[in-house]
Amino acid sequence: MPQFKHVNVPEGDRIEVKDGRPQVGDRPIIGLMRGDGIGLDITPVMKDVVGAAVEKAYGGKREIAWCPIYVGLEGLQRYGTEFPDEALEAIRYVKVAIKGPFTTPIGEETHVCLHCAHQQNHPAPCDNCGKEDGVTERFRSINVRLRQALDLFACVRPVRYFQGVPAPNKYAEKVNFVIFRENTEDVYAGYDFEKGSEVATAVIDLIKEKTGRQIRPDSGIGIKPISVTGTKRLVRSAIRWAIQNNLPSVTLVHKGNIMKFTEGSFCKWGYEVAVEEFREHFVTEKELWSEHNGTMPEGKILIKDRIADSIFQQIQTRPAEYSVLAVPNLNGDYLSDAAIALVGGLGLGPGANIGEECAIFEATHGTAPKYTGQDKVNPGSLLLSSVMMLDHIGWKEASALIVRGIERAIRDGHVTYDLERLMKAEGRQDVTKVSCSGFGKAVIERMD
Ligand code: NAD
Repeated sequence: MPQFKHVNVPEGDRIEVKDGRPQVGDRPIIGLMRGDGIGLDITPVMKDVVGAAVEKAYGGKREIAWCPIYVGLEGLQRYGTEFPDEALEAIRYVKVAIKGPFTTPIGEETHVCLHCAHQQNHPAPCDNCGKEDGVTERFRSINVRLRQALDLFACVRPVRYFQGVPAPNKYAEKVNFVIFRENTEDVYAGYDFEKGSEVATAVIDLIKEKTGRQIRPDSGIGIKPISVTGTKRLVRSAIRWAIQNNLPSVTLVHKGNIMKFTEGSFCKWGYEVAVEEFREHFVTEKELWSEHNGTMPEGKILIKDRIADSIFQQIQTRPAEYSVLAVPNLNGDYLSDAAIALVGGLGLGPGANIGEECAIFEATHGTAPKYTGQDKVNPGSLLLSSVMMLDHIGWKEASALIVRGIERAIRDGHVTYDLERLMKAEGRQDVTKVSCSGFGKAVIERMD
């Protein structure tokens, strides 16, 4: 085991990864990054709920050995940096971790408060909590750096409806799919060059020389790389997910009608990896009609493709036809947010960033500094991320208990302020507002 300065690895079983699957003992060591701001409130609730579910499911035979890892404001406090090398090394060691939200600098806000995660454009005191100490200078996005450093290439976002949550879509009850968004390529790869810069000018000149076509000289230039490697590993994990969870289809989403060699190739290479590695598991839409008369053969997955703009319509009008969607980075970003809005907003959306070796499960909302430490916010996103984490390590009995507890707590109207407001606005009278920890208790009480 590496020697750590601040990370105390507890007694337990280190997770190993073989053929893309975690090998897990009865006491797996799992990394825990509390997060900034309301991470303080939601992370202990998640730990309690997971502890209760594991205890109920396995009667003391299994237990999670949590390994606190210090990133963000906790990292600053201990190491003097928000992104310590030791934290990365610890995540690489434990392989699976879960995290709350982290402060990311926005716009002109140059200072952040270590106590409540509030951002402001001047040193102490903090405008939000008034603390005189611990206001420090800004830093770069922890989330992006974690993804890059650990090569977490798949951003996985399950989207489903919970009975009782006010949702704008008529077919919200039929929404139950998982989006696999590619995390490292496309226009997000970071090749973005300012108008008039050396690189932008050189690219414009090169294209003129090689193709005879003139890009306006006063253009900024962005590059959209989409590779065989990046595409195949993303689609491979999407198909594996469908197989492991007995899901009926995988849809390759692309804009290949316009961008043939990037988006179009994403679709082509996606089918290729399906044929090369999973041929016995699926039929294509073409084969469904040419060989099976439109009836899905037992135990097979349907692999299909859709143009990106049509999928934004389809998830609204025919959501039941989709179960796993594999999408390049930019459209995956838009689609994830659009999809979660169908079922009532970001409050309950979980997420994970997964690579070949490591997986980090996360709350998808931010640090909401104005609510820090008030035991007020909705812990649903982190709770559902813990469900994904338990599924990832194969502890499905425990994850099912948490899902059941959440479903019933919402059904019974025991919800935090955000859902209470929406449910009351829809005319529901029997709603009880509970705190963040109160929601955790309501979930635990309703697991059986
Ligand atoms: P935010 O999600 O923190 O808050 C926006 C509003 O949403 C809050 O004021 C609150 O009303 C509501 N909200 C958020 N989470 C909630 C919860 N669990 N329960 C109930 N209500 C909730 O977004 P923001 O204000 O734009 O960002 C604040 C900070 O968080 C910034 O530093 C931002 O960069 C960061 N951020 C981090 C992540 C992440 O770590 N994954 C994601 C988004 C934003």
